[in-house]
Amino acid sequence: MGQLEGKVILITGGARGQGAAEARQCAAAGADVWVTDLLVADGEKVAADIGGHFLEQDVTNESLWNEVIDEIVVTSGSLDGLVNNAGIFKIVPMTQTTLDDYRRITEINQTGVFLGMRAAAKQMVAQQSGSIVNISSIAGLSGAASAFAYGASKWAVRGMTKSAAQELGPSNVRVNSIHPGIIETEMLQQFDVLGPDIRDRLTANIPLGRTGAAEEVSEVVFFLLSDSSRYCTGHEFVVDGGMRA
Ligand code: NAP
Repeated sequence: MGQLEGKVILITGGARGQGAAEARQCAAAGADVWVTDLLVADGEKVAADIGGHFLEQDVTNESLWNEVIDEIVVTSGSLDGLVNNAGIFKIVPMTQTTLDDYRRITEINQTGVFLGMRAAAKQMVAQQSGSIVNISSIAGLSGAASAFAYGASKWAVRGMTKSAAQELGPSNVRVNSIHPGIIETEMLQQFDVLGPDIRDRLTANIPLGRTGAAEEVSEVVFFLLSDSSRYCTGHEFVVDGGMRA
């Protein structure tokens, strides 16, 4: 019997990378997992592999959020966990950031998380239980000179997490943020613009001496979705090999 037996969990951006690792781990622990993403073929494959469900979803679409939650609740009966994982990353410093870039990154990484929390909270408050896990970044803990808009969006996720935790705590709904460091997913390709030696330079700043695996983040997501973390809310959980120690 897994630690998430009977829990219904929604993971956005779950077609690949960290979201897919989270989906696999939650399903293996007995959860009924719903994966959403823009990437339909990859998302359907993850869902088929784990015996879960896939829905195409753009997290910036407000009305679609309500449709997704409604379909999950009608089909699976509840919503016990939401992982706001979908996100985009772009290397561009503040002085070169266009308004379009700023708006696009904010819309997905920040507004998408707000819309997800709000839609899920309606159901979770009615149930008087739930756990929301928002994926921020170490860029949400300190300055990010080379990724200005991304850093701003991830600081917003950290702040929204605390406000939502305060608001929803009396309804037994927990909200926490996770702050990954350098994790081996397709997102890391964005660093290539900083030169061929960028990976060595990044790794040199990690006390554990290596980048992280998606599964090493999903272990912490798993903990926050499970009842083992039932007294944790409103806080940051850093998974960075010591980079921001
Ligand atoms: P990833 O492999 O690029 O996965 C992100 C997923 O989100 C992709 O499938 C992407 O689909 C999807 N997505 C993007 N925009 C979306 C939208 N509007 N609606 C729905 N889905 C959307 O990257 P990852 O590393 O797993 O990232 C997961 C989360 O961790 C992100 O929030 C990221 O910011 C955060 N994070 C990553 C790292 C790292 O080093 N990898 C470090 C810190 C934090 P498309 O390909 O279609 O865009």
